[in-house]
Amino acid sequence: MTDVLVAGGGPAGRALAGACARRGLSVTVVDPDPHRKWQNTYGLWADEVPHLPERAIAAAPAATKAFGAREHRLDRGYWVLDNTGLREWLAEPQVQVVSGKVASAEHGPRGSTAVLADGRRLAAAVYVNASGAPRGRTEQTAYGLVLPAEQAERLEPGAAGTAVFMDWRDGTQSFRYLLPLGDGTVLVEETSLAHRPGVPIAELAQRLHARLAAAGIRAAGRVERVRITLDVPLPVRGQAVPFGAAGGLVHPATGYSLATALQLAPPVAAALAGAFDAGPQAAARAARKALWPPEARAVHALRRHGLRALCGMSPAQSAQFFDLFFALPVPAQRAYTSGRADLAGTASAMANLFRAAPSGIRRKLLG
Ligand SMILES: Cc1cc2nc3c(=O)[nH]c(=O)nc-3n(C[C@H](O)[C@H](O)[C@H](O)COP(=O)(O)OP(=O)(O)OC[C@H]3O[C@@H](n4cnc5c(N)ncnc54)[C@H](O)[C@@H]3O)c2cc1C
Repeated sequence: MTDVLVAGGGPAGRALAGACARRGLSVTVVDPDPHRKWQNTYGLWADEVPHLPERAIAAAPAATKAFGAREHRLDRGYWVLDNTGLREWLAEPQVQVVSGKVASAEHGPRGSTAVLADGRRLAAAVYVNASGAPRGRTEQTAYGLVLPAEQAERLEPGAAGTAVFMDWRDGTQSFRYLLPLGDGTVLVEETSLAHRPGVPIAELAQRLHARLAAAGIRAAGRVERVRITLDVPLPVRGQAVPFGAAGGLVHPATGYSLATALQLAPPVAAALAGAFDAGPQAAARAARKALWPPEARAVHALRRHGLRALCGMSPAQSAQFFDLFFALPVPAQRAYTSGRADLAGTASAMANLFRAAPSGIRRKLLG
């Protein structure tokens, strides 16, 4: 019997598995294809995980910009991750890796049993579900293409060295996200921030291809398809420890979760290890408590409110809203995007936005 069994070998599962192993617990990760490379292009705000080692960073663009109806230079670094380096950083040699798909989990006073699709049964004191988000009703979708930097420069001058977090200038229901990848290429993505149901990726692809064709660009590079569930329900009572996208760590109004999982893995592992001697149920309870203190639940509810407001905005209102957002001082922006348990900061950023907003947007913000 292993101390901790983690279902899911994505970044969240690996981060928590490694952190638990560093606390002296025996850990098993189960994933259907555990050695598959992570394909997603991950980005995060540099201040969210400042201790990230260099090998886990593929690019640290010199400038960060956002556009609502006008340009904002953001005094906040944005990093593109190197998935191989990230994985190496999170890895712990003691973690046992098993190929398999968890079909269900059974729980009792002496721990949990993961039942795999092929019938194998793996016993553990604590069972962590890090198997990714279930499909939801409200989604962020995007279609991206990797272009040589010269082509991206034709689309947006300066794109080779600038992270363009969002660009709403053309008045459509989606925005552009441009990210230099650190290897002479730039990811250009057409993104629907939040929609219920998600905007079909084919529609976003058509929009991006039309935009590129208008700039005389024939794209031939790698394609990235994004589908992120934004309305993952918060974990209900139970003995499993849901973590990562499976555990509701996705920010409902931005779609980001990776930085949060990386931040939370060490304290959740510490809580779990600290209560381990009191028994499996106490250890799972301690981990869940470390994940969802009341402040984080309250912030989550505010963010869900933000998600509903965003879903109701017209393209012009979205551009106006983000002009207001990016005019906020950086600490207020940070509180809203990254302050997962910062209830006062989140509420204050939202109140400041409300005060600055014209009446049409105020009505949307009131919901
Ligand atoms: C293209 C793309 C780009 C993205 N970019 C960003 C970004 O820039 N920043 C950000 O914060 N987020 C981004 N996201 C959101 C992203 O999903 C999460 O941040 C991140 O992948 C979540 O990590 P995770 O480990 O929780 O889940 P996942 O990465 O989904 O990993 C789940 C793992 O569980 C495994 N699994 C599934 N079912 C089972 C099962 N039954 N048993 C065992 N294992 C199972 C899967 O094979 C997978 O390996 C992006 C998503 C996509 C699709």
